[in-house]
Amino acid sequence: MTITRFAPSPNGPLHLGHAFSAIVAHDRALRDGGEFLLRIEDIDGARSRPELAAEFRDDLGWLQLAYREVAPQSARIASYRTAANELRAMGILYPCTCTRAEVAAAAVAHGPDGPLYPGTCLRRGPVPGPNAAWRLDMEQAALLAGTLEWTDERHGRQIATPEEFGDVILWRKDAPASYHLAATVDDAADGVTHVTRGVDLFRATHIHRLLQHLLGLPVPIWHHHPVLVESDGRKLAKRRDAPALADRRRAGEDGRAVAAEVRATLFDTGISLSDAINQQA
Ligand SMILES: [Zn+2]
Repeated sequence: MTITRFAPSPNGPLHLGHAFSAIVAHDRALRDGGEFLLRIEDIDGARSRPELAAEFRDDLGWLQLAYREVAPQSARIASYRTAANELRAMGILYPCTCTRAEVAAAAVAHGPDGPLYPGTCLRRGPVPGPNAAWRLDMEQAALLAGTLEWTDERHGRQIATPEEFGDVILWRKDAPASYHLAATVDDAADGVTHVTRGVDLFRATHIHRLLQHLLGLPVPIWHHHPVLVESDGRKLAKRRDAPALADRRRAGEDGRAVAAEVRATLFDTGISLSDAINQQA
């Protein structure tokens, strides 16, 4: 059965860009008579506003998107810890006590997410403690995994190149798990068969594919959709003055009509794959 999910973080209200993403996931599941899930990704510490989750449910109902809600990330910390321990037992996680500024100052190259970690702590081996994050030893992990492939419904078969991210953090000191680890573990636990999300996350999939291999998790199909943008190129979801779905809902707008408009006019606009990769480069 086809299972998709919409996985918003309660860091701010949902906007039209989120509606688009939810509709892509919902309609993709429905096309196959499958199931559409809602997962609240609420482990972003200080930025998380749990009360927004109720708004998200109302927003999806207003858009007429039927969903089944699965456990929020805050209820799944133990599973992230288990996954991290598994990687640690394989000898491919190491503690890092560098500050963001230290990493930026010592970095000699940049990856898709910013300065590449220069491996300082891999060499000096700090004592793990509450102030340590845990990084993936990417070179060792890639050696263990060999060549990996993944498939995107819109963009075809891909060769995974997680090396371009360097030694990513998988266990944070300020939040339990990184997005990469949590989302990968969750999608497997929820039985997600088609991971739909914005093309701005296209390259992160290289890391997720590697983690799936290392953790022995099933490999889904991906569907990276365009990201809606304003005329000045800003992501619609990030525009501060764009009306939130909740505001439009409370103002009495017809959510079914809004969803119909999104389906009819917005599907092939926004950032394309090449735009997203050029922006990151
Ligand atoms: Zn370090």
